[in-house]
Amino acid sequence: MTTSSLSVAIIGAGFAGIGAAIRLKDQGISDFAIFERGTRVGGTWRDNTYPGAACDIPSRLYSYSFAPNPDWSHTYSGSAEILEYIDTMVESAGIAPHIRFEHTVSGVEYDEQAGEWTVNLDGREPVRARSVIVASGPLANASLPNIPGIETYEGRKIHSARWDHDYDFAGKKVAVVGTGASGVQIVPELVKVAKSVKVFQRTPGWVIPRVNTPTGSWLKRIYKDVPLAEKLMRSAWFWGHESVALGVVWDSPFTRVVEALSLANLRMQVKDPWLRRQLKPDFSAGCKRLLMTSDFYPALQADNCKLVTWPIARLSAKGIRTVEGIEHQFDAIVFATGFEVSKAGTPFPVVGIDGRNLAAEWSKGAYAYRSVAVSGYPNLYFTFGPNSGPGHSSALVYMEAQIDYIVEAISKLQQFGWKSLDVRPEVQARYNKDIQQRLQSTTWNSGCQSWYLTDDGFNATMFPGFATQYVNQLRTVELADYKITAASREDDGAEQSSGASVLTA
Ligand code: NAP
Repeated sequence: MTTSSLSVAIIGAGFAGIGAAIRLKDQGISDFAIFERGTRVGGTWRDNTYPGAACDIPSRLYSYSFAPNPDWSHTYSGSAEILEYIDTMVESAGIAPHIRFEHTVSGVEYDEQAGEWTVNLDGREPVRARSVIVASGPLANASLPNIPGIETYEGRKIHSARWDHDYDFAGKKVAVVGTGASGVQIVPELVKVAKSVKVFQRTPGWVIPRVNTPTGSWLKRIYKDVPLAEKLMRSAWFWGHESVALGVVWDSPFTRVVEALSLANLRMQVKDPWLRRQLKPDFSAGCKRLLMTSDFYPALQADNCKLVTWPIARLSAKGIRTVEGIEHQFDAIVFATGFEVSKAGTPFPVVGIDGRNLAAEWSKGAYAYRSVAVSGYPNLYFTFGPNSGPGHSSALVYMEAQIDYIVEAISKLQQFGWKSLDVRPEVQARYNKDIQQRLQSTTWNSGCQSWYLTDDGFNATMFPGFATQYVNQLRTVELADYKITAASREDDGAEQSSGASVLTA
C-alpha cells in the first residue's frame, strides 16, 4: 500500500540531490521529496571526515554556478567548509522540509499503467512518484579490502570514509593501506601525531603539487561586491582545467608533459634515489586519478614514516604480514582503499517497463543515454550516471549540467501533462557505441587497473572528452530522442506517440 504520491522522488541528499532540489524549486516544482539514508545532508562530504580531507579541485569551480560562495577561505577547501557550503544552500533555498532522513530506498519499480514509480523504503510504506532522480552517488559505500585474515586483526580498523574520531592516534603505531586520493591526504596528518606510520603502497601514483593559498578578506569583499569577478575567476579555473584534459583525458604527447612535470616534482621533493624508484609510476599519467598534493612526499620522508612496497600477504592478529615473511605490528590500521563502486549493477533494484531489471542489463557494465537516462526506465534519471566522470575538471560542473537537463525534462513532462519520457533504444545504442569508441584513445583505457574499469576492462565511468563537450550535450532535452507517452484524456490509460509529434497532437 502506498501513502503518498509525488512529482519527483530524489534519492540521496548529497551535492547532487540538493542541487536537483534547488533547481526544481527554481522551476516552480515543489512537490518533491529527498530520501536520505543518513541523518544529515552532505553525502561523500558528510562521510569523508578523515584528517586532511579536502577537495583537490579549486573551490570556485568545485561549487555550483547558481550558488556562488564569495567566502571560500582557501583556493582548495577542506571537507568541513564544503559541508558548510552544502548546509548553507539547504538553508537559503528552503530545502530542509523536503528531506526525509533515515529513509533507505530498497528499490524502485515502474508502473506502466499509471506512469508512476513506486519507491520502496526499508521498514516503511512505499511512496509513489512520477519521476525519480537517483542521486545516491558512486562513492557512497566504503569497502574494506578483501585481504586474507582481515577479520583476525585485533587492533583498531578504520576506513578513510568512516573515520573513528574517538580514536586517539597520539603515540600509536599506525599503518595506512592505500595511496590513492584519500591516502595521500591522510598520511601527512597522521605523521604529525602518531608515533610511527607505515604506508603500504601497491601502485605508486602520479603526483602533481597542489598550491593552496588563503583568500584574503579584500578578495572575498571583491567577490561579494562584484559577482562578475567571482564568475571570471571560476571561468579562469574552468579553462585552465580544460587545457589539462589534453594530457589527462587522452594518451597523447601532452600526457608525457604531465609525466615530466610530475617526475620533476618527485626529483625535487624526494632526494633518496631508492625511495624515488619506489614512488615512480609505471603507467600513463591520468590512467588512475592524478594525486594533487604537495605534502605527501615530505610526509613519507619524516623520521617516523616508512614506505612499504612489499605486497601484503595477510593480516594477522597483531598487524600486517608482507609476502617476504615480515610481520609489521600496529595499534591501528587505516584503510584508504576506496569504495565499492557500482560500475556494473545498480545501487538498489530498479525495475522498469515489463519487469525489466536494470542490474541484469548492466551486469557487464553500466550504460545510459548522455549518462542520465536509460531506455525502458521512463522518467528515471541518474546524476553521476554511467560515463559521466571527469578526469581533469570539477565533478560539480558535470553535475550541474546533469541536474539542469533532468529538471528541464521533468518540467516539460509537467508542462505538457505527459505521462512519460523514455529514451529511444536506438538513440541510446548509437550514443554508447560512440562513447566506447572514443574511450579507446583515453588514458583510462591505456592499460592500468583502476576503479574506473570493470574486471573485464569495460569503462562505464568516465566521459571521453572535454567538460565543454559534456555540458553541451546536456544543454537541451531533444524531444526527438525520447518516446513520449501522453496521458489519455481520462488519464486512465496511455496513448503512445512518437517523439516531438506529441507537442502538436
Ligand atoms: P582509490 O583511488 O580507489 O585508492 C585506493 C587505494 O588503495 C589505492 O592506492 C589502491 O591500490 C589501494 N588498495 C586497494 N585495495 C588494496 C589492497 N587489497 N591492498 C593494498 N592496497 C590496496 O580510493 P580513494 O583514495 O579513497 O579515492 C577514491 C576516489 O574518491 C578518487 O578517485 C576520487 O574520485 C575521490 N576522492 C576525491 C578527493 C578529492 O580531493 N576530490 C579526495 C579523496 C577521494 P591500487 O592503486 O594498486 O589499486
